[in-house]
Amino acid sequence: MLAVAPLGAAPGAVLTAMEGALQAAFRLPVRRLPALDEPARAFAPQRGQWSSVAFLEALLGRVPPGAVRLLGVTERDLCVPVLSFVYGQAQLGGKVAVVSLARLRPEFHGLKAAPDVLARRAGTEAVHELGHTFGLVHCLDRSCPMSLSIDLVDLDGKTATPCVACATLLDESREMQRTRARTEGDRP
Ligand SMILES: [Zn+2]
Ligand SMILES: [Zn+2]
Repeated sequence: MLAVAPLGAAPGAVLTAMEGALQAAFRLPVRRLPALDEPARAFAPQRGQWSSVAFLEALLGRVPPGAVRLLGVTERDLCVPVLSFVYGQAQLGGKVAVVSLARLRPEFHGLKAAPDVLARRAGTEAVHELGHTFGLVHCLDRSCPMSLSIDLVDLDGKTATPCVACATLLDESREMQRTRARTEGDRP
């Protein structure tokens, strides 16, 4: 099971779209958790943005029993020290990832709000970040959700469906995890 949790408020329709994209891409059931508190110390006043690493740390302790991954969703504009912003961040091969809706909103860029555009971008970005937690790295296929997005033109050129190569890697990664779980379970 994959878990999705808003940190603070996030629109239900967007969360639903993200959950649908995740379920289709990873072929796992998805459960929405009650909203978590935002990590207050994530705010970086000198930048007016929020630290995505602090969000990941806050999520780490909140992975519910039975969930293989936890995706946090925030309206805050996230950043890391070396980049002016990030759409999201994941623990590569880890259990948690976060997606920011802030810059996925057309209105952030002075355009008219478009809930369907926001929902599509958020779904693609959710698959991208959780893909990293399953060990996927950036893909060169520009239509694959695992390709790198520098800007919204890149993001809007992607679909939420992993390309054949990434889907194959995903299957292998999940098979390895299942084998490991079985092996560990067999120990006396
Ligand atoms: Zn990435
Ligand atoms: Zn790919």
